[in-house]
Amino acid sequence: MMANFMAIIDRSYYPLIINIKDKKVRMNPVLTSLKEIKPRYIGLWLKDQLSRPDWFSNMVVERSAWGAFSIYAHARRSDGKAKAAYTTKMDAEGSALKMSKKYGVRFVTYKCLFCDGWHVSKTSDPMPASVEGKTPAEEYSATEVNSLRGMDMEKVLSQNIPDLAPVYGGLRGRTLSSARQYYAWRPLVDAGLRQIIDLRADYKSDAYRKRCEEFGISYYHYPVVRGGKLENEMADHFPELCALIDKGHFYIACAHGLHRTDIALCLYWVFYAADKGIAPPPIRGYREDKGLDTHKIMRALNEMTSI
Ligand SMILES: [Zn+2]
Repeated sequence: MMANFMAIIDRSYYPLIINIKDKKVRMNPVLTSLKEIKPRYIGLWLKDQLSRPDWFSNMVVERSAWGAFSIYAHARRSDGKAKAAYTTKMDAEGSALKMSKKYGVRFVTYKCLFCDGWHVSKTSDPMPASVEGKTPAEEYSATEVNSLRGMDMEKVLSQNIPDLAPVYGGLRGRTLSSARQYYAWRPLVDAGLRQIIDLRADYKSDAYRKRCEEFGISYYHYPVVRGGKLENEMADHFPELCALIDKGHFYIACAHGLHRTDIALCLYWVFYAADKGIAPPPIRGYREDKGLDTHKIMRALNEMTSI
């Protein structure tokens, strides 16, 4: 299984010397990242990210380069040494604000997954929202609109599909398979929809696939198993799922388009997209404001790393 992941995320990396706790490691940075992440920090990191109104754009550590799950969130790329670490989030935020003002670009903070501390990282974005007067919410929606990549946003949003949201150049929301959503098919296909990704493990009927044929688009079934148990099938077909998400113009959904959809998109992001500098997905199901927490996402991620 890991070999599959490596095949897709390993293409452009070269071995480097990395310092972890003064231990020099010469190996593939992706392998190092997966080996050296401390699972006990993941909960704190995720909780912090999800507590921010603008976490979607905030969390990307150097948008053009690496995510927090890469060893380079902790080690400098120039010499592999650990970046300056702050003991508390507040210390890191203070430093980030100072540097943002000094250099005129946005600096972000994040809980490191490799050490006890918090780090500050430069981004290629202009001044932080709070300094320039743009609210995090405005920035968030701008990012979401951009993520539609040529799909007709106005047409898509006027369909009133429950929990609909743009993600990675495609869409997520309640499944389109029920007769109640039939009205939305023609407008969505006209707006640029080309691919259905069905995450329901318990769905055995052919009706959804046939509906896709009727409208001339592709159907892909990627069952996400509930209750934290990931079957080998999920791991085996993971590269196909990633390739389809990369193409955009998809509609990804479980039944309600909430929880298993969160899990599938987080798997895509953590194991595939983060290292390419792609932003994390908007979480719709496992949100604190809905009285839920992210432990099921965490469990799915943990199981994926142990396959
Ligand atoms: Zn660190």
